[in-house]
Amino acid sequence: MRISDSRYARERTQFELAMRMIAYEARTCTIRTCTGLSDDRIRKIYTTYFKEEPLMQVRRQRGKPPSRISVYVKTGLHQSESSTLGLLFADAGLILLRLGQSPKLLLSKSTVEFGQRFCLAYDMYCLLHPARRICFERAWFLLDALVRGDELQFTRCATCQNIYMHDSLSLTKTVCPGCRKRGQSRGVH
Ligand SMILES: [Zn+2]
Repeated sequence: MRISDSRYARERTQFELAMRMIAYEARTCTIRTCTGLSDDRIRKIYTTYFKEEPLMQVRRQRGKPPSRISVYVKTGLHQSESSTLGLLFADAGLILLRLGQSPKLLLSKSTVEFGQRFCLAYDMYCLLHPARRICFERAWFLLDALVRGDELQFTRCATCQNIYMHDSLSLTKTVCPGCRKRGQSRGVH
């Protein structure tokens, strides 16, 4: 492969990843982290391929990135979807789950491969949960929060033994959302 060919292939991969991430309304800084493209180039891709396209309805995310973990556990549905996403991150080879410890990050975020695998995990999440209560940027922050491990962690349900995501600061028993719901419907709290 000639140098110009490999450069073209690299630029094409960066461009395709940026298109995927813009379609999911990722922030410019998130796209820059994985693709290595400049903010100006990312804005141009958005303006050229998304802004004037009424069917795409892609908005640009502005302001501070999401930073509260309560959104991941505020209802049983949110907690189930966060758990699915966390397991999909592991399935995509982004993190290594370790019970009782925070997951280990397996790839540098500053790589196209990380972005591609992250999009793959998020694609699968959207297929499993079409209502998607967790937007792309919140999914990105979820992975950070999991790796940090001080507020969210995977734990085993004391009732059914399934693994699920848990607020590590919560004082409630370690019971997964499914078992909690079944317990409530039987009047057990
Ligand atoms: Zn359970």
